[in-house]
Amino acid sequence: MSNVIPAITLNNGAEMPFVGLGTWRAEAGHVIEAVKESINAGYRHIDAAYVYQNEDEVGAGIQAMTEQGNVTREKLFIVSKLWCTFHLPSLVRRVCEKTLSNLKLDYLDLYLMHFPMGVKAGDELFPLDEHEQVIPDGSSFLDTWEAMEELVDAGLVKAIGVSNFNKQQIEDLLNKPGLKYKPVLNQIECHPFLNQEKLINYCHSKNISVTAYSPLGSPDRPWAFADEPSLLEDVTVKEIAQKYKKTAAQVLIRFHIQRNVTVIAKSVKPHRIKENLQVFDFELNEEDMKSLLSLNKNWRGFPMLWASKHKDYPLNAEY
Ligand code: NDP
Repeated sequence: MSNVIPAITLNNGAEMPFVGLGTWRAEAGHVIEAVKESINAGYRHIDAAYVYQNEDEVGAGIQAMTEQGNVTREKLFIVSKLWCTFHLPSLVRRVCEKTLSNLKLDYLDLYLMHFPMGVKAGDELFPLDEHEQVIPDGSSFLDTWEAMEELVDAGLVKAIGVSNFNKQQIEDLLNKPGLKYKPVLNQIECHPFLNQEKLINYCHSKNISVTAYSPLGSPDRPWAFADEPSLLEDVTVKEIAQKYKKTAAQVLIRFHIQRNVTVIAKSVKPHRIKENLQVFDFELNEEDMKSLLSLNKNWRGFPMLWASKHKDYPLNAEY
């Protein structure tokens, strides 16, 4: 595998490799090896988050590879995310520094506001009320954004973006008086069952890139029901895969690249980590792209029901 993974150019001029390694639910004891394996396979983009509680191991994997000379820091594109319980502006810098120390890095290439919803600060990552709803912290994501802008000025992060924001929330950010840096990217759930056509078109029209999370439908999400649709088992996806002599996962990853969307699939298995990067030697034709797009049914693996009553819950809007 060549070391050069095709990349998109973000609105700050930085290059972000199309395919990255996801690390949510990458269990302790497996993450270091997965990160090392991915870098050896040619990955240069890794997606982390404070709330995944494994940044330390992700960082150990990165450190091992840079110390062994397998890659230099400058060639890597490392993303992490500000968790909801740190939205109060006074908390933002401290938790970003904690993420950097976990990851053993001097800077992040991209720091995302993980969700628009601010949640009560404290030791608990998911403080819930008696209705199983997260307890808001009363913050405004516009103020949180300002605190994130300061991280860019302080050199802790090269770029800032958002995740799980809907169109109106992005619009609110773009219209914020005194906006210093516009988001470079919105990271959202996206796959053929939730193709996000309108939100992607809107983001691209504003020169905001998109990363697709859960591209395989997140089959290991803890709240999955047996009768929910499976992307990896979908007949159309499987037929297309057969036609190109590729796997269903490779078709599902390639789908995003052809929409100019970066994509992060998670695996801790060496053969799958490699497989998920072997997506630059084929091209889905127009008809097959249309067939994949036609599978849309607005199905979500991440309905975020724990925040459905929050003022900033993003999923009540059409997109
Ligand atoms: P994915 O759609 O990437 O699916 C991951 C699952 O698929 C794992 O069970 C993995 O198992 C399995 N898998 C991986 N590769 C293959 C393959 N080639 N064939 C068959 N099965 C495979 O789900 P995620 O929800 O993890 O999304 C990816 C990443 O996106 C996350 O890890 C995280 O970094 C990010 N994310 C961001 C969110 C946000 O709110 N911003 C929300 C959710 C995810 P195994 O490890 O055993 O191979």
